[in-house]
Amino acid sequence: MEKIGIMGGTFNPIHNGHLAIAQKAKEQFALDKVLFMPSGVPYMKNLREVLPATVRCEMTALAIRDIPCFELSDLEAVEQGNTYTCRTLEKLKSLHPDTDYHFILGADSLFAIEEWRHPEQIFQNCTILAAVRKGTAKTDTSHEIPASGSVKTDTGILQTQVQYLQKKYQASIEMLEISAIDISSTQIRRMLHQGTSVHGLVPEAVEAYITENHLYQS
Ligand code: ATP
Ligand code: MG
Repeated sequence: MEKIGIMGGTFNPIHNGHLAIAQKAKEQFALDKVLFMPSGVPYMKNLREVLPATVRCEMTALAIRDIPCFELSDLEAVEQGNTYTCRTLEKLKSLHPDTDYHFILGADSLFAIEEWRHPEQIFQNCTILAAVRKGTAKTDTSHEIPASGSVKTDTGILQTQVQYLQKKYQASIEMLEISAIDISSTQIRRMLHQGTSVHGLVPEAVEAYITENHLYQS
């Protein structure tokens, strides 16, 4: 059975944290490939500062072009209107019933996933691979990194949430064994607004693309 990872995201812009967790997922779960799937019109996001899907796809393509087994999927990006993970997974699963899908996300998303559309369908159609992000707030819609709050405390809350979801939805949730990566697209956009270099936080080709196209500047 083919094992395919799906790395969904706004990718506004894609950063090295995304690549690191996808790489880890591929290794730890012996995935045959990972699909990078930029969202269409983002759901639960501040629309004003999200770049068009075509631009986010281009940056994603640049970020993964030299990495074997990483592929761009524009399945969601080409959609008009909101894209929903449940529908994407249903679509993929009906096209490829014999594929074992692994949906990769940041552990912060586990606190928001019940507010996503049809979480029960999501859990039914894939295994969730969750990566811990250092100092993550409780929900994916809050981008603030708490000033206090230790990683240890976060881990306790996270374990409880994982057990709760496993029980309620018979969900298959696995943790990615990766040391937390303290980086977010929000932080990168903020740095670019301020004129700070994001060298080392995004792939070099993405950095060059952002500079050439004057993206995320005030
Ligand atoms: P934003 O700050 O705009 O929300 P983001 O960095 O969270 O951006 P997304 O495109 O929202 O990036 O993320 C796609 C997926 O990757 C989400 O499931 C998110 O939780 C996860 N993710 C992003 N960065 C990290 C990180 N550093 N560690 C773990 N997971 C991450
Ligand atoms: Mg996010």
